[in-house]
Amino acid sequence: MTEMVKAENVHKYFGSLEVLKGVDLTVPAGGVSCVLGPSGSGKSTFLRCINHLEKLNAGRIMVDGELVGYRERGGKLHEMSERDIAKQRQSIGMVFQRFNLFPHMTVLDNVMEAPCRVKRESRAEVRERSLALLDRVGLAAKVDNYPGQLSGGQQQRVAIARALAMRPKLMLFDEPTSALDPELVGEVLEVMKGLARDGMTMIVVTHEIGFAREVADEVVFMDGGVVVEKGRPDEVITNPQQERTKAFLSKVL
Ligand code: ADP
Ligand code: MG
Repeated sequence: MTEMVKAENVHKYFGSLEVLKGVDLTVPAGGVSCVLGPSGSGKSTFLRCINHLEKLNAGRIMVDGELVGYRERGGKLHEMSERDIAKQRQSIGMVFQRFNLFPHMTVLDNVMEAPCRVKRESRAEVRERSLALLDRVGLAAKVDNYPGQLSGGQQQRVAIARALAMRPKLMLFDEPTSALDPELVGEVLEVMKGLARDGMTMIVVTHEIGFAREVADEVVFMDGGVVVEKGRPDEVITNPQQERTKAFLSKVL
């Protein structure tokens, strides 16, 4: 099994505050890891490190066998140029709690924007692909609408289609359903389940324990900048070993 993500001993400080204290994570190609943990435990920071939106203070992250953000030369690490970092990021899709769609562009144009502008792919090809993606997330009927005309759940599904339009090798989700009304959560989780089923490698920060139990190959529980416990969902969620994991789960279940 090839590793899509391998994070080793990741340390991150904000000033004197140590937010990540040696985080390790390995995700095989096609694997789904769900990251659980209380607010402030460093989950978002860790995701942001994976696509180099944050720089590490120590440790290393490989995505698909490539060091993220750095090149190794003469045994030393040199940070990549902005251009190379941007290029590397193209293969990593990210979906946030807030959907951040372009409000003045139609749904279809939102999805087509990055492949056309950043990758300079042919518009006709991108259009075909974007329409297929919007169909896949259940929004074929909304392609000509504007984001403001959609529900939060629909907007988040557009955001997922937009990330997929870049043909990422890896998808990062940071609490993608936390900002949604409860009745809209399910439709977004369904799309994510479909992606997992189709073999996308995914790291999902979520408080949706049911989703983690059903979809995750591995559940990672973080607290205070460390991975407290990880394992199969039936281990970590059903039968947690660590007190901190038990305490957290008793609050969210
Ligand atoms: P989580 O996603 O688990 O809620 P975060 O990764 O957002 O946790 O935050 C972890 C800690 O890092 C928190 O104490 C937060 O206040 C701090 N933090 C996050 N981003 C920054 C930043 N840009 N500057 C300073 N502190 C930050
Ligand atoms: Mg967060």
